[in-house]
Amino acid sequence: MSADLQPLLDALQFSPNNLALRQHLVRQLNGADRHQDAETLCREGLRQFPTDAALQLSLAEAYFALNKHSAAFVVVEELLSHDAGHAAAHLLHARLLLAAGQPADARAAYEQALTLNPGLADRDLGQQLEQAAPARRVPTPAAGAYGSPPTPDSDDEAEPSAQARLLGLEKPKIRFADVGGMEAVKEEIRLKIIHPLQFPDLYKAYGKASGGGLLLYGPPGCGKTHLARATAGEVQASFISVGISDILDMWLGNSEKNLHQLFELARAQAPCVLFFDEVDALAANRHDLRQSAGRTVINQFLDELDGATRSNEGVLIMAATNTPWQLDPAFRRPGRFDRILLVTPPDEPARAAILDILLRGKPLAASISPAAIAARTAGLSGADLKAVVDMAVETSLRAAMRAGRPLPIEQSSLLDAAKQVKPSTKEWFATARNYALYSNEGGLYDDILVYLGVKKPGS
Ligand code: ATP
Repeated sequence: MSADLQPLLDALQFSPNNLALRQHLVRQLNGADRHQDAETLCREGLRQFPTDAALQLSLAEAYFALNKHSAAFVVVEELLSHDAGHAAAHLLHARLLLAAGQPADARAAYEQALTLNPGLADRDLGQQLEQAAPARRVPTPAAGAYGSPPTPDSDDEAEPSAQARLLGLEKPKIRFADVGGMEAVKEEIRLKIIHPLQFPDLYKAYGKASGGGLLLYGPPGCGKTHLARATAGEVQASFISVGISDILDMWLGNSEKNLHQLFELARAQAPCVLFFDEVDALAANRHDLRQSAGRTVINQFLDELDGATRSNEGVLIMAATNTPWQLDPAFRRPGRFDRILLVTPPDEPARAAILDILLRGKPLAASISPAAIAARTAGLSGADLKAVVDMAVETSLRAAMRAGRPLPIEQSSLLDAAKQVKPSTKEWFATARNYALYSNEGGLYDDILVYLGVKKPGS
C-alpha cells in the first residue's frame, strides 16, 4: 500500500499548497499505518492552514496512533473549540477520554458524535463504553458537558460558550423528514410553534400571542425526544435538552439558579428549542418531598416559563413526559404548557418510514422491504424498531466475521429480530386508559381514548 502512495507524495512535493491533495494524502498515510509521515505532512500543512479541520483531525489521529495522547488531546480540543459540530472529532475525543480513564466523559463524547452522525457508530467502542460507563438516566446535558455538571462557584464567571458546552447545546442536523410518521403532530408543531416563530408579526396582527410551551406525552420510545430535536433542526434553531432529574439531583441546592441560567442560555441562543425531558419529575418532587426547596424550584420553573423576569421570545419550550397525570395542573395554565400532544406508537406506514430511516446508509440485501417488516411489527415503538435493526446489524456482523468479508443485512435477519422484540408500549396504554376513563378533566386525555377506539374522533 505504501508504494501506491509514492505518486501522491511526489505530487505534493510539486504542489505543496494543494490543500485537498494534502488532506487526502494524510488520510491515506494514516490508513496505511504510516502515522509518522502523516504527522509530518499535517504539521507542515497546518503552518500554512492553521485552522484546517481535516488536517487537525488527521494530525490528532496520527498522534493517537503514535501514543502521543496529550498532543492528540490538545489538537482535538482545539478543533472542537472552533467546530463543535465535528462528529469525527468527537469520536476521536471519545477514544482519547476512554484511554485516559474517563469513561463517563468518553461515553458522552461518543453519544455526541453519534447524534451528529449516526453513521459513525462503532460497535467495539460502544461495547467498551457500555462496560466501562453504563448509561445514565439522562444523557443529553452531559453529552455536551462530557459529564461535568456546572459547579455552583463557576456559574457566574462562565462564558456563554463554556456554559453552552456544559449544558449540551447543539445544532441538530435532523429535520422532520428524519422522523417517521407523526404527520398530525408535526402539523400541530408547525402551526403552534414554528409559524409563530417564523411570522411573529402576522400572528400579532391576528391577536395571537406566541410563547407558551408544548408538552408531548405518550408511551416510552415513541420519538418524543427525537421529534423535539427535529423541531429545532426544522427551523435551524439551537437545541438544549435537559432532564429535570438532572436539575434536581445533580445540581442539588442550586437548582433555581441553574434553571435560571438554562433559560438565560436559551434566550441568548434564540431561536432555540429548550427541551425538558421527564418534566413530571418536578411534579413528583412536589408531592413526594413536600419540601420548600422543591417548591421553590417549581415556582422558579413556572416564573421562567411565564417569562416573568425576561421575555422568552424566540425560545420554543417543549417538554416530554410518560406520566402527564402526575403533572401539577399549574403547569398547564395558559402561557405555560397549554398545548399537550399525544405521541402514539407508529402505525404501519409510519413504521415503514421509521425502518427506512433507521436502515439508511447501511449495507442492505436487495430483498429488504421495510413495508413487509412494518406489516409484522404492530405495536412496536420507534425505539423497539431501532432494537430490531440493531439486532439484525449484529447478526450480519457476526456472519461477516465468520465469512471474513462484509455482508449485507438480510430481510430474514430483520424478520427474526422482529419476532424477538416485544412491544414495549402495551403496559403504558393499560395505565393511560384508566386515567383517560376516570380522570379525564376537560377531555384532556381524549386523544388516548380515540387512539384506543373507546371514543370517536371529535365526539
Ligand atoms: P422516552 O419516553 O423513553 O424518553 P421518547 O418518546 O423520547 O422515549 P426517543 O428517545 O425520541 O423516544 O426515541 C428513541 C429512539 O427511537 C430515537 O433515538 C430514534 O432513533 C428512534 N425513533 C423513535 N421514533 C422515531 C421516529 N418516529 N422516527 C425515527 N426514529 C424514531
